[in-house]
Amino acid sequence: MSWTLADRVAAAVTRRLTIKPAPVRFEHPVASVTFDDFPRSAWSVGGPILARWGARATYYASGRFCGISEDGLDYYERDDLLAVAAAGHEIGCHSFGHLHGTKTASDAFLADLDANDAFFRDILGDFRPASFAFPYGEASPRTKALASRRYATCRGIYPGVNRGWTDLAQLKAAPLEARSWSAATVEALVAETAAGGGWLIFFSHDVSDDPSPYGCTPVMLEHALATLAAAGIAALPVKHALAAGTFREAA
Ligand SMILES: [Zn+2]
Repeated sequence: MSWTLADRVAAAVTRRLTIKPAPVRFEHPVASVTFDDFPRSAWSVGGPILARWGARATYYASGRFCGISEDGLDYYERDDLLAVAAAGHEIGCHSFGHLHGTKTASDAFLADLDANDAFFRDILGDFRPASFAFPYGEASPRTKALASRRYATCRGIYPGVNRGWTDLAQLKAAPLEARSWSAATVEALVAETAAGGGWLIFFSHDVSDDPSPYGCTPVMLEHALATLAAAGIAALPVKHALAAGTFREAA
């Protein structure tokens, strides 16, 4: 997606417009590793790495990707959703159509979220996702308000540590992506979280020795988990990390 100046200005305004403020107080710093869309390798390759470090992740799945291959990536199958859930990971919503929310009318946006809920129910039974991630990280005050009424948290893609007054309608998250990855950046974020407390969220896509620009290598994932472990920071699914913090929703 190419952004116009107007898009950039709108995004900057949206980011600062807190929709669902909550104070984040963690007795212990916490982290979440998240995968968007999700490419099958996030589970087939990423799953064993997560297991080795005793980490549980959040997989933000879009129904439209189920069972398909696109742009050189194989996406998850129905059975992968069941396996991910059975292994104690969280399944979050990433919209059904992976749509550009800011360019979608409210009724169509909500209908698409309904469609993803129905898709999950069809596979997982009595299940309703608690966590949402904006496709493309694209949010507006309108879509933040719509999504945050349905989900306990909505995750964006602005890097930083969630601490103090935090917008649960657009949680900060740092990329774990081959196109921008550096060990030093990951280590600095973990050190900042360990020292100052708060909630550090990473996001990625595929996990492969030859990843897409938006994915990571097994080494990058392993490095993030090892750095967190060395700092004594647990990697929990988003909904469990939320529960681990002390929140008081603002009126
Ligand atoms: Zn996505």
